[in-house]
Amino acid sequence: MRIIVHNAKCQGHARCWAQAPDIFDLNDEGYILPGDIDVEEKDELLASRGARSCPERALEIDRTSDALLDRLLFNQHCGG
Ligand code: SF4
Repeated sequence: MRIIVHNAKCQGHARCWAQAPDIFDLNDEGYILPGDIDVEEKDELLASRGARSCPERALEIDRTSDALLDRLLFNQHCGG
């Protein structure tokens, strides 16, 4: 899973960080650092909680890469 960071929308509430301080990096003023975040499978629940807690919708959960990979693996498995 990946989290797309729209850091122009960030208002520095630090709610994401309160949920998952190891996943969301904030600067000294409490604003999220720019750049997408790749989330390991074991951290997905925490990361999505943090992303959903953002009142500014600055954190978008992107599952497309997972979905594409699943389809690819499924096609390989089925020979199609
Ligand atoms: S919760 Fe949203 S607005 Fe607050 S620091 Fe995190 S990304 Fe920025």
